Amino acid sequence: MRQVGVLGATGSIGTSTLDVIARHPDRFRASVLVANRGTEALAKLCERFRPDLAIVADPAMEADLARRLAAAGVTCDIASGADAVTAAAAGPLCDTVVAAIVGAAGLDSTLAAARAGKRLLLANKESIVMGGELLLQALREGGGDLIPVDSEHNAIFQCLPGGRPALGPSGVRRLILTASGGPFRGRTRAQLGAITPDEACAHPKWSMGRKISVDSATLMNKGLEVIEAHHLFGAPADVIDVVVHPQSLVHSMVDYVDGSVLAQLGNPDMRTAIACALAWPERIEAGVAPLDLAAHARLDFEKPDLDTFRCLALAFAALRAGGDATAILNAANEVAVDAFLAGSLPFLAIAEVVERVLEELPPIPVVDVQTLVGRDAEARRAARGVLHRAYC
Ligand code: NAD
Ligand code: MG
Repeated sequence: MRQVGVLGATGSIGTSTLDVIARHPDRFRASVLVANRGTEALAKLCERFRPDLAIVADPAMEADLARRLAAAGVTCDIASGADAVTAAAAGPLCDTVVAAIVGAAGLDSTLAAARAGKRLLLANKESIVMGGELLLQALREGGGDLIPVDSEHNAIFQCLPGGRPALGPSGVRRLILTASGGPFRGRTRAQLGAITPDEACAHPKWSMGRKISVDSATLMNKGLEVIEAHHLFGAPADVIDVVVHPQSLVHSMVDYVDGSVLAQLGNPDMRTAIACALAWPERIEAGVAPLDLAAHARLDFEKPDLDTFRCLALAFAALRAGGDATAILNAANEVAVDAFLAGSLPFLAIAEVVERVLEELPPIPVVDVQTLVGRDAEARRAARGVLHRAYC
């Protein structure tokens, strides 16, 4: 029986994870549930899944969570604060950790789970974009497995021999990440001037949290995924390609030197990747409808438009620049996306903010978590400075 800590339990990935867990009570138990502030949703999950520990990241909400759980007759332990989340990720109550917190806030708990040798199901791509080398080092120290949950990386994982990263000797030539193109595929810059947050979050194929939905609309999500693939599969930027595939049925591909291209297909439903990662190397039912290719009829592929969707080009540039440039990119993007969602930054200006912060803060080597977190804070300050000067 796997004891699963679900970090970000009330979010889109968390909810899908709990759906898969509920289908297999003989195999999995949700032993730790973590949310940011949403105590009502967290308490409902606790009532249903009866974890050993429930954590709300915002300490101001702990009393409210305690009151709700007492009213519902749930007797699990309760904790709050970022340190409690990190401790639980490394602690004895779970052997498997689903890292599904959104943003850089997930870094510490992801690293802690890796260092403690847990099976790490990585959805929180921002943590590997920020601290890729540190995460790989923590995994080596802990000796546990990382199984990617991001659908593209999970697809590549499934298409690589033994699910293991290996370029060169294994005959891998290229990794091909597919992108849906987001809600604004085919539009020109002139047509993107007045985009609202709700329009940006209306993804044509995937139902996701608001931050990743905006990232998908700018193609920054694909950029973060290129960086994620670089770390997970040891692939230099030059062997990672992105192809737009609007149907979102081919989740990514591996191109081998003999001309074989292996792809993983399925309906766009994150429960496939989550079930794969939870049960690997076994296969379990995920609640996902079988793929009906004849009903879909077409699979289209096209090149991404890097002039309109500049965030993807910026992510490639940051990866090539090396050092902590990808952490700077991530921090600036988080600030810019927050401002866009709050209605204070135009859609196209997200890329401008990221680009200016990358110019202001040339990369330095990643040496340890403290320095990295300091640079993340510096990049956030720089991004707020750009916002203030240009858009307030
Ligand atoms: P979401 O906004 O729906 O959920 C985020 C979850 O994290 C919530 O449970 C929230 O309470 C929690 N949270 C936020 N800040 C926190 C903090 N400081 N401490 C503790 N918990 C905190 O987001 P999502 O769409 O589920 O995405 C989660 C992560 O998974 C992101 O990194 C995203 O890029 C990645 N991802 C999501 C999808 C998807 O289909 N949604 C696909 C691939 C990767
Ligand atoms: Mg993805």
